[in-house]
Amino acid sequence: MTATGTKPVPRVLVVGAGIAGMQASLDIANAGYEVVLVERLPSIGGRMAQLSETFPTLDCSQCILTPRTVEVGRHENIQLLTYSEVESVTGEAGRFQVRIRRHAAYVDWEKCTGCGLCQEKCPSKVPAEFQRGLGPRKAIYTLSPQAVPNKPVIDREACIYFQKGRCRACEKFCPTGAIAYEQTDTFVETEVGAIILATGYDLYGLENLPEYGGGKIPDVIDALAFERLLSASGPTAGKVLRPSDGREPKEVVFIQCAGSREPVRHLSHCSKICCMYSAKQAILYRHRVHDGQAYIFYIDIRSPGKGYEEFIQRAMEKEDVVYLRGKVSRVFAENGRVVVLGADTLSGQQVRIAADLVVVAPALVPRPETRRLAQMLGIPVDDTGWLTAANGDLRPMETERPGVFLAGTAVGPMDIPETVAHASAAAARVMAMLKREK
Ligand SMILES: Cc1cc2nc3c(=O)[nH]c(=O)nc-3n(C[C@H](O)[C@H](O)[C@H](O)COP(=O)(O)OP(=O)(O)OC[C@H]3O[C@@H](n4cnc5c(N)ncnc54)[C@H](O)[C@@H]3O)c2cc1C
Repeated sequence: MTATGTKPVPRVLVVGAGIAGMQASLDIANAGYEVVLVERLPSIGGRMAQLSETFPTLDCSQCILTPRTVEVGRHENIQLLTYSEVESVTGEAGRFQVRIRRHAAYVDWEKCTGCGLCQEKCPSKVPAEFQRGLGPRKAIYTLSPQAVPNKPVIDREACIYFQKGRCRACEKFCPTGAIAYEQTDTFVETEVGAIILATGYDLYGLENLPEYGGGKIPDVIDALAFERLLSASGPTAGKVLRPSDGREPKEVVFIQCAGSREPVRHLSHCSKICCMYSAKQAILYRHRVHDGQAYIFYIDIRSPGKGYEEFIQRAMEKEDVVYLRGKVSRVFAENGRVVVLGADTLSGQQVRIAADLVVVAPALVPRPETRRLAQMLGIPVDDTGWLTAANGDLRPMETERPGVFLAGTAVGPMDIPETVAHASAAAARVMAMLKREK
């Protein structure tokens, strides 16, 4: 039901600019409606921007993503608000009033040309979140070299000027005078007919998994960190090197279901994509380190998708990845290696592997901020915090609140094709709603 007696406002708010939010925005904008796309990070692309190659085709993730990010950035019907968050929403389907906070970047993006000199000259380095802490970034930074928009922000906590009142190196070297230390948050107010939530997923932190070292062993990393090691734009320029000493690891153990399908200690749900991306990562590791040995611990293989089972077979048969069916009981550091103790339930043997690197596939979990957004909009989340559709069978992209729709992994684990299909379906529902006269 839309606002009584009025036409729906032909503008849509999309929250989250990962592949889901971008796909929904492009579908709607290409049909002639206006879109306000809000992203909390300084640039768009979401998790897909962090991936190296994608299963099962091994396409370069950045190469297939970049044309989309550029199209979103330039689209005349898309108002892109990065480094921004939704503050409040009032109204009803067809006519919501939305207030959006634009965080101060301390850089005047109108003046900034994206030349990168400020980042080069900034003396302050901190671990880069985008590189999962495996490489540094400066206090003034863009998320990645391909960032859209290609405009930096200043991290106040890391900035010497903000913390100690001296430095101003970025200001000194900026050729266009774009540094704006005095900038404050600003607000955008707009009216929209419908809202799509596409806030994506996070990974269950290694600190929650003491059985795998609890995040304290440098050579035990999570799967997104391994994606960064495999990426040409990553901290090692695509070379697989151990974080502790920069050596090439000759034995790598991949552990699936870390925190997933463990209702007693962790989370009950299956994260759905880990079987596929672990196989991908093991294959890519073998492509980078020809004499390397990859092992994968798994409970069982879940690969329902076109060409997916064949991809797993390829990992096993053509790439010589050793699959061990069983759970890992303990991971610990010993003599410069990482020891993995587990059970191979097929042979009935206990297994002990002294590995150079361990890659953990943690459960996918919802982003923590999604709960706040759901509360603000009055829509339910499940026990884990995933956004919940009104009817998961027949209307998996609609919520109980008319005019509010869902797209992508904010609902639960999905791979990229499923995410894109879900987002396009949400966009189609929104446009059908906006077409109605009342
Ligand atoms: C290690 C790993 C490897 C993978 N490899 C593959 C692969 O090879 N092939 C494949 O098909 N899939 C793969 N995937 C899955 C893939 O990453 C997801 O399917 C896809 O990225 C989901 O996109 P999304 O837009 O739903 O979410 P996200 O990419 O998480 O995007 C959500 C966006 O919303 C923003 N956001 C969140 N909260 C807010 C808020 N409150 N306000 C504003 N913005 C917000 C976030 O900053 C983010 O930009 C992999 C996943 C992992 C973990």
